[in-house]
Amino acid sequence: MIGFQEAHAPRLYKALAAHERQTTVKKWVYVPYDQLNTSLGPVCELAPSETGLILIESLAKGKRRPYHQQKLALILCNQRHFALEQAQIGYRIHYAMTADSYANTLQQIYKVTGQIHMMEAAEYELRKELEPLIQEGVIRLHPNETWLTQEADFDAGTKGKRPWRMDLFYQYLRRKTNILMENGKPVGGKYSLDGENRKPWKGTPPAPQLPRFQPDPIALEAKALIEKVFHNHIGTIDLNHLPCTQAHAETLWRWVQDECLVNFGPYEDAMSTQSKTLFHSCLSPLINLNRLLPRKIINDVLALDLPLSSKEGFIRQVLGWREFMRHVHRKTHGFRRLDEQEWSSEVSPCAKWGHPRPAHSTSDGGSLINALDYQTPLPEAFWGKESGLNCLDHVVNQVMETGFTHHIPRLMVLANIATLLEIQPREITDWFWVSFIDAYDWVVEPNVLGMGTYATGPLFTTKPYIAGSNYINKMSDFCKECAFHPKKTCPITRLYWAFLERHKSKFKSNFRLSMILRTLDKRSPDNKAIDAFTFEQVRRQLSNAQSLTPESLTRQPVETK
Ligand code: FAD
Repeated sequence: MIGFQEAHAPRLYKALAAHERQTTVKKWVYVPYDQLNTSLGPVCELAPSETGLILIESLAKGKRRPYHQQKLALILCNQRHFALEQAQIGYRIHYAMTADSYANTLQQIYKVTGQIHMMEAAEYELRKELEPLIQEGVIRLHPNETWLTQEADFDAGTKGKRPWRMDLFYQYLRRKTNILMENGKPVGGKYSLDGENRKPWKGTPPAPQLPRFQPDPIALEAKALIEKVFHNHIGTIDLNHLPCTQAHAETLWRWVQDECLVNFGPYEDAMSTQSKTLFHSCLSPLINLNRLLPRKIINDVLALDLPLSSKEGFIRQVLGWREFMRHVHRKTHGFRRLDEQEWSSEVSPCAKWGHPRPAHSTSDGGSLINALDYQTPLPEAFWGKESGLNCLDHVVNQVMETGFTHHIPRLMVLANIATLLEIQPREITDWFWVSFIDAYDWVVEPNVLGMGTYATGPLFTTKPYIAGSNYINKMSDFCKECAFHPKKTCPITRLYWAFLERHKSKFKSNFRLSMILRTLDKRSPDNKAIDAFTFEQVRRQLSNAQSLTPESLTRQPVETK
């Protein structure tokens, strides 16, 4: 057993010991932090009494990046409760707490348990770290059954053609699974009802209140450890809003079905200062840990009596987007290798965040793909320094506080502004990775490098998702409290035009941008000069950690002699 565990989690170890039974384990299975489910894979091949589960808390992993404290709490609380829940059912638990890597720890455990089984890891970083153990036969790998689709589905759905298209992949899955299909045709006549799901929210119907959870001693112990060992990480821990047990996960899922889904579709794109999450499910933290299996979510949603726009809209997210993103990441090794070209950064995450690189670290700095060559360093505004743009400040504050926002603030505020400012893609990706409680490489990297910033070019998105202040004003109430007027002074619209002007040669044959490029052509030279000035000014001021004001962005008339 590895050293200091009892000292770090005496309650956990005492509770585990209370359930320990002397059984003969025939199969030891390593359950990574994000596979917290015993209904599939090698863990359910034998009776619980014949199966041992290995769980590891690696402080080295926690320190690899300054992850939000709420994310660490989410993972530790769920993993600890999962271990206890399985011990109660009869599984033997080997719970290792270590300062070492997963690979070295498993190597040690193997000496005691012999052959270890596991399902393929979702994260590239963990797959890479465990590769040598798989080659040596220490670990026997099984397919990861938590996913709904195989690589063959991705190939068949996208026909292997680039840009890989989510809509084609999703349509293929609908036909293959017969989900929301009638006589071979999509129910409602269309595969996607996205076009109907764009209502702003003006306060009604009332937004549901997130359920609260009562913290127990196991969760409090994990919180205390995080506050001691990871005190310099961003954010704070709010256990009242942290589902930690299987029962909590089910309560949250019940709440989503009862309170959120009916209005999910129509208000999917809306944002508000009055509700942090509106009708979104907030399930990604638990789905990504597999506390809630996507399969169950989809089956339950299909059984509900819901408007089609909500039912289809929600299923598209889980069956379509989530699976698609995972395949894109896996196929490209996290965008490190594309068309024989290497994009890996050798700078380890530890070095990037100013820590010494541990001797056992196998992680590189991820992909440096940067199709449009953005070079702006990440401004302090993303860490909570006021930018003067109410939308950005409001959303950043929420992320710093909770480690969460729903999809549209991520895409249309954070990633949109980052793209318009040409923030270096690796920097903004790493910011999302450490700031969000549901971030893992397989999901955060395609969402930020691809969908959010277009750093992957036309690999799987046909155009950048960018917008001016009109969109933000229409879909939210952020502009009401802002010093900038959305139609007159807000710099975001000028940043948008300036972006298109700078990159228009790369988009000239892009059919989806042709109309907007024609409008760009009609902009007067004066307007274009102010667009370019605004871009330089905003970039300079935010890079100097200065807050923007309408006055600071006013161009002084050029003196003529
Ligand atoms: P809902 O809106 O209720 O959707 C239901 C579920 O669909 C989600 O829980 C999620 O599992 C799935 N889903 C929807 N969209 C996506 C998507 N684009 N990719 C993968 N799954 C999706 N999602 C993460 O899980 N982790 C991340 O780190 C992450 N980073 C993102 C960064 C950017 C820039 C963008 C644009 C999106 C990101 N997403 C990420 C996708 C999406 O925003 C979140 O999954 C979603 O907001 C989570 O909130 P929710 O559970 O309320 O989702």
